[in-house]
Amino acid sequence: MLFDPCVPLVLEPEAGATAHEVAVIEEAIALWNDVFEIEATVDDVPGARHLPVYFEDDIWYYGRFDDTRGHLEVATWIEDLDGMAIVLAHEIGHAYNLYHVDPGDRASVMNAGNVDVAPTPADGEELVGLWGRCEDRG
Ligand SMILES: [Zn+2]
Repeated sequence: MLFDPCVPLVLEPEAGATAHEVAVIEEAIALWNDVFEIEATVDDVPGARHLPVYFEDDIWYYGRFDDTRGHLEVATWIEDLDGMAIVLAHEIGHAYNLYHVDPGDRASVMNAGNVDVAPTPADGEELVGLWGRCEDRG
């Protein structure tokens, strides 16, 4: 399951998500928007695809894009909002078909195990390479 960053997508907080968790999703969207305007929101948009975001306290990894069932997971024990938002931005990157970037090549939100590098201009260019510029779509 893949998602096109130029097509409206609802990053849907799980039922009972806290205000902090909703803020994590909004921050992850904002971090991507700094380098590439993604068509994503936490608010429902009629006709948009939905990608639920689950906040898990019993996972050993920071986060995951489950491309079979179609959801994102973020570990609640990361605790600080910026770290969680960066983990979620990384997993959103996977949903948009980005792969891991070797930290020896460059700092990237897509470095494996990343909790402190926000999407960079080069990450935005990776999305342009995969999907084109949204404003150029007919
Ligand atoms: Zn990853």
